[in-house]
Amino acid sequence: MARCFVTRRVPGPALDRLVAEHDVDVWPHRLPPTPDELRERVAGVEGLLSLLTDTVDEALLDSTPGLRAISNYAVGTDNVDLDAATRRRIPVGNTPDVLTDATADLAFALLLALARRLPEGERDVREGQWVTFEPDRNLGAEVSGATLGIVGFGRIGRAVARRAEGFGMEVLHTARSGGTPLEELLEHSDFVTLHCPLTRETRNLIDREALERMKPTALLVNTARGPIVDTAALERALHERAIGGAALDVTDPEPLPADHPLLQAPNLLVVPHVGSATVRTRHKMTEIAVDNLLAALAGEPMPHQAN
Ligand code: NAP
Repeated sequence: MARCFVTRRVPGPALDRLVAEHDVDVWPHRLPPTPDELRERVAGVEGLLSLLTDTVDEALLDSTPGLRAISNYAVGTDNVDLDAATRRRIPVGNTPDVLTDATADLAFALLLALARRLPEGERDVREGQWVTFEPDRNLGAEVSGATLGIVGFGRIGRAVARRAEGFGMEVLHTARSGGTPLEELLEHSDFVTLHCPLTRETRNLIDREALERMKPTALLVNTARGPIVDTAALERALHERAIGGAALDVTDPEPLPADHPLLQAPNLLVVPHVGSATVRTRHKMTEIAVDNLLAALAGEPMPHQAN
């Protein structure tokens, strides 16, 4: 029986399988443990089930030399120092595939909501501004026939492309391994949607220069990771109408404080990191995260290992 720490309650019954085999401590609070609290709770554990809100860095790994397995409750692993874990021969698990459709759906929901100005329309209704059918009010952008630029063409990027095809969009994509060069994609797209991981190369990939390359009517959707977009540059681009609007599931900082200046920018839609937030997907993520941890603690390869 190994000691395990789970950094938040995760949905679905699969955690019971971990509890049945190991000595499991689950962080009970709504907010994640602070770095100090995390260090205290992982001291002496062999298995860690972490969330994207937990920074698992060299210092944390140094403080818990007995750690044998890290199972991250996400497909992205940017919160974990993969190199540091690999140097210590600690496998790091992630939860790919099961969240692909849910995240692609959310990207498309954001794209459509922004294109058709749903937040403004809803506000009009609630504020009594819907006085009649008006031919020239609340006009949005047509999705059919528009060009969608997909940055990162892996599981989620391709799932978004399939949806775009159904909506009659032209699709451009870029990835490390090929596709349309990013500059060209930005210049030609009516919508740009981000689906690459957060890495050293993609941090601030969408900076001031990238935003200036986009069409003044173009809409940006980010369901990947907040720091892929330079927040100050986005704020400025929205105020200066250098782009048409942005819809964000992820932000930098995250969460975005209610008084953050970005929220004053026009044509901005923000939702609270809900890309994978469907009942089925979150239950499946728990299953995979538990499978990864159980396998590694049993000395077997993780079904989904990121390092
Ligand atoms: P994936 O299958 O690994 O695909 C990632 C894609 O990004 C690959 O096509 C990769 O290209 C490309 N890429 C990597 N570096 C790039 C760069 N510098 N420039 C352009 N493209 C680059 O990953 P996935 O499962 O689709 O997930 C993608 C990301 O979505 C995750 O890392 C995570 O951060 C985010 N995500 C967010 C949510 C949410 O709740 N909002 C949910 C799930 C995932 P190559 O194949 O050429 O390397």
